[in-house]
Formats: sequence, structure tokens, C-alpha cells
Amino acid sequence: MLTQPLVSQSFLDALECPQCSVGLHLGNDELECIQCGARWPVIDGIPCFSNGDGDLSQTDAESLLLDTARYGWQAAIEDHLARNGQMRHSMAIRQQRAAWLPLIGLRDDAIALDIGSGYGTITHALATTVHKVYSVEAVPALLEFTRLRMQQEDLANVYFVRGEATELPLAENVFDLVVVNTKLELVGEGRTKEDPREIHVRFLRRLQRSLKPGGVLIIGGKNRFGHQRLRGTDHSGVPLTNLRSPSIASLVSPHQSTHYRTELNPIIQHRHTYCEYGYKKLLLESGFPFATFYWAYPRYNRPSALVSTERQPLAAHVLRTISDPSLGSRAGRWGRLLKFKLARLGLLRFFIAEFLIIAAKDGNGDPSQNSKVIQSANSLLPKESRITNPVGYLCSITEAGKSVILLSEHNEFRTRLVIKTWARGSTEPGTLVQVHSRVSEAEAETDRFMVPAPLGSFTLNSRSYAVETPAEGKSIAALILNSPPRKRLRFLEVQLPMCARAAMGVSRVLSATVAVPGIDSTWLTIPDQTLLDRQIASYINMEASRWKAQGVRAHGDFSIENIFWEASGRRIWIIDWAHVIEGVPPLYDVITLLLSAVPALALEHREANNHDVRSEQQFLAAFFGAGAWAKANAKILHTARARMEHTNLDIWKQFLLSLVIRANDFFARKSKLANQYCRLIELASKNRARFVCLGS
Ligand SMILES: [Zn+2]
Repeated sequence: MLTQPLVSQSFLDALECPQCSVGLHLGNDELECIQCGARWPVIDGIPCFSNGDGDLSQTDAESLLLDTARYGWQAAIEDHLARNGQMRHSMAIRQQRAAWLPLIGLRDDAIALDIGSGYGTITHALATTVHKVYSVEAVPALLEFTRLRMQQEDLANVYFVRGEATELPLAENVFDLVVVNTKLELVGEGRTKEDPREIHVRFLRRLQRSLKPGGVLIIGGKNRFGHQRLRGTDHSGVPLTNLRSPSIASLVSPHQSTHYRTELNPIIQHRHTYCEYGYKKLLLESGFPFATFYWAYPRYNRPSALVSTERQPLAAHVLRTISDPSLGSRAGRWGRLLKFKLARLGLLRFFIAEFLIIAAKDGNGDPSQNSKVIQSANSLLPKESRITNPVGYLCSITEAGKSVILLSEHNEFRTRLVIKTWARGSTEPGTLVQVHSRVSEAEAETDRFMVPAPLGSFTLNSRSYAVETPAEGKSIAALILNSPPRKRLRFLEVQLPMCARAAMGVSRVLSATVAVPGIDSTWLTIPDQTLLDRQIASYINMEASRWKAQGVRAHGDFSIENIFWEASGRRIWIIDWAHVIEGVPPLYDVITLLLSAVPALALEHREANNHDVRSEQQFLAAFFGAGAWAKANAKILHTARARMEHTNLDIWKQFLLSLVIRANDFFARKSKLANQYCRLIELASKNRARFVCLGS
């Protein structure tokens, strides 16, 4: 009878003796070094190059694994962390994304290595993208947990190795990608007698050796200066404190308690946190001549953006966070302005708390410029207008796995290319291509608007990429937020009415477009969270079936973030055509527009401290009030309706139905606005008698 070998040949080929750097021989239940004779056991198919249990207690480990087998890994991890008082890490460990993956663009047959895999979050992300993943972890219970996690997710392309970061048993020239999923400062921290920097160089050289030529190293690091400078300002209310983010180690390895940490030599650890320059020197010495530094914003574990630390991209990013609070900046306006000043002066990079570093094995140039993604996108531009020295800025990392990469010249402010990327398999919305050709044909039409030019698309490493030109001008959202409150009413008189007219044009262009998906019936259903009286619920339902049957088409996300205003030409640009939809009420886009403008305009009720209270008061003022705001909104809605070809249009019913669709859309996108919109539906129905367009 043929028995299954302990480890497969290809697995064996990736391993070697950490001391002699020669291949290993597979014995009965162990691996042996042919040269020095050292032996390592293979337990349950996992080669064990280290012993010791880490600092996860025996009972903790047992209950974690038992719960994982019994209730599934997600529930087990939550319970485990809650019991250890680390509930706040739970989300991070479940969802921490390999956010940098879309920037790298590996080949489909890529082999990746995850060092210090912890609860297997990065391993999980890699396993869904690359061909094979090697997961190295010293704590056996965590390794076993990750193995169960992969089993439960039906991912069979992961090999497990139990080993220490300082004694990696890895062969030469194996990996396309190595992820150091623990902080460099902590590597070899137990070896208090050795110089930590030497340990780090040895560690990085080992990784460099195991990478294929052109292979990429991903490493997270704490900024020596960012870390120390900002420590003192923690409770002083200085705006810069929000640059601090929780340490990567505490997120990635929450099983390592503070108690455990403090037993180590604090002076050595302190001395060997590097600044950006220090990292560059260290990496250079270890055979990584090119490294790109990114600021993982706002946090390493769940970044909404990865920003190159070059001066211009940093400044552009800070400017974006000033103009768009939804990007997650927690600092006040002054704090953000100070950050912008620092960024403009080229100083902000010194204060960044933690880096994400993308380094490449020598001989292949700067990884940011040689990134296949950036190269492929750049090559879609005509030769004479290509970007000479492109820097990438990855933003809008969403739960749905869609990201946007903005490319600019390294010393310029302006975005030159927009790359949209999403996991392959989710359908590519080709709407922009159709809309673009239709818009260019209709040069002379009224209600005109501009759209980005689609430049092409490509597929790399389980991801699809579509490249387009940026919109001109500034988003309406940025314009409103950058103007003082007393000047904001003007937007309701000039820009927003023009946007509403463009919405008519959008509907017309879309009716000539071939493929527009019909609305999902669940989006027309009143969310369970919403309590409505039966009569209102029933006419929302009637309105819904009326418009579903009519097949009216809309942009689907006609919000002030997606509409750009080109002041010089008084032209409107509309971006993000991924939500185009059929079967909504004719005023859907216009209502979306006005709803999205409410928090930015904030023309009334700016006082309330509580965010929810404030947004509800402002919603009422905008659509149920007696002031200038409500009057302006009423005028825009009436004008839009007057220009429609449909008859018997009840603005009130469309308003309610649009709120329902928006709420369901936000639920589908896992946005926290979903619950807020449920509340707005209730508020609207209670205040029906005061609605600005009632009975008209
Ligand atoms: Zn040996």
C-alpha cells in the first residue's frame, strides 16, 4: 500500500537546514540535515524547527482550538480575544487586509511566504490570491488555528512551518513575495546578548536569499521619530496625536502580553527602532537597494489609504482628508491644516508613526516603478504623455475588495491616472466605456456632462484593473467643505441645480446604453430596522413596483463626491459608473444628490455635538424646514420634475422610496450610513406634513 509522504516533494524543496543551508532528507517521521545531522520532527504534516509554546497558555490554546473546531474560526477568535480583554483586536484579526496586494500585481503562479503568521489573517488573504503560501509561526497553537481556519475556508494551498524568525529553514530562490508580519524591532528581541541590528541584517539577508530575483518584501515598521516625538503629546490635545496608531505587533500578535514584553531589554528595543533613513540603510545592507515607503492611513490594520511618503503624494493625501472627512481623519480642521503644512514642507514623513515598506530584491530597480500594475497602467497612455517617475497612492480600500490607485508624477500634485481594481470574479462594470462613447457622440446636447476617458483594462494575479483619466476640477464635496458656511447657500443656487440638470442627461445617455443591471428586489424592500405605519409602507411598495416596471435608469451613486466641477468651463464631470441601475424612481439621482449634500452644506444646526443628532436635525431642516435651505431644495426638485417626460410624479413618494433604496445600497456596501438612513426613513414619514414638496 502506498502511503502519503509526510511532506510533499515541492514543500521539501522549499526547506533547508538553517545552519548549513543544504537541502533536507525526509526520514520516517522527521527531516534530517545531510551535512550536520540535525533532525527536526514532522508533526501532523508540519515540520517543526522550533520548540516551546510561546506565551499562549496551555488552557488558552486548547480552548481556542476546541472552539474553532466546534463553532468556526470567526466565533472562536472573538471569544478568545474577549476573554483576554482584547476585544478591540477582533475586527483587525478577522479582516486585516493585505491592502498592498493590488499595488504589487504578482503573477498567477506566485509563491508567497508569511513570517509570523499569528492568527493567519495575512496567510488567509494571500491564499485567496496567490498560487501557494508558506505560513511560518513559532507558536504551535496559532499554527494549528490557522490550519483549521484554512480548512474551514476550503483553502488547500497553504504549507505550514513551525519556526522562529531568526532561524528560518528556507531554501534559496523560492518566493515571489515575503511578508514580515511582525515588527522588525521584535525579531530576535529575546537575544539580549547580541547586537539587535546585526540580528536584523542577518534576518533580512536570509529573506533576500529566499526571494526570487525581482521578488518583493513587505515589511511593517515603526518610525523611530514618529514614535518618540509623539509619545509625549498623547494627552495634551496636540492635533498630531492622531498620527499615532496602535503598534503592529500588538495587533498581529495580541497573544504577546505587555507583561511578556517588559521582561525584555527595553534599552535595546528602544535603540533599534529605525527612522525611514535607518530602514533604507538597513535594507540596502541586506540586499534590498530599493524600497518604497508608504504611510498606512489611518491605521495599519485597516487602512483606507496607502500613501507614498514622497512630499507631493503626502500633501495631496492630507489635502484630500481635509476636504473629505469621510476619509476617516479624526483630527479637527486645524490639526488637518497643520498636517497639510508639514506635508507641503516635506516634514510630515518624519512624523509618520508606522510605515509599510515595499522592497525589491536587487537588480530589478525600484519596485514602485517596476510594479507591474503601475507599468501596465502607464503604458496605456500615449508614449509622449507617459508618467516619467510614477508614484502610486492607493485609496478607498473598501470591504468589497475594490480599491482605487491614483498615479501621479513623483513631484507633482495632480493625479494623472486613475486605476480601479477589484477581485476577479466580481463582474467588471463596462458601463464607463459605453457611457463615454455615447457622451462624446452627443457633443451638442443640452444637460451635458463629461466623463473620464477609459484607457483600457488588464488582469494581474486574480485582480482586474481598469484604467481611466481623472476628472477635471474639484469634487462638489471638496468645494463645499472648503468654503466657509456663510457662502455655502450659493451651491444650492449654482452648482447643485446644474448637477440636477446633468442627472437628466445621465438618464438619457443611459437609456441608450446596452447593459444596465436591473435593481435587486431586496433593495426595494423596507429594511427590517425601520418601523413604519402600514399605510406609508404600502404606498412605498406600490411606488417601488411602479418604477421597477418602468425601467428608469440612473447613475446609482449620484453623490457630491462623484461629481466634479470644472470652474473655468462651468462643466460637470461625473465619475464612478459602477453603480448604474435600472428600475429606480426618475428623481432618484437628484434626490441622492441633495441627500449627499446635507452633511457637507450643514447650513443649519451646526451646534449639536452628537453626530447622529446633528445629521437628523440637518436632514429635517433641508427637506422639512421653513428656511432658505428647504426652499432651495424644493426648487431644485420641482424644476427637475417639470423637465421629466413622466406624468403623475409624486415627489414625496419618490423621496421616501429613494431613502429606502439608499439604505439598502449602504447595507450592501457595509457602510455605517445604512442605519442612519433607516432612521431617516422613519423621521421622514413622521414629518410628512412638513415636507417641502408635499402635494405638488
Ligand atoms: Zn545542517
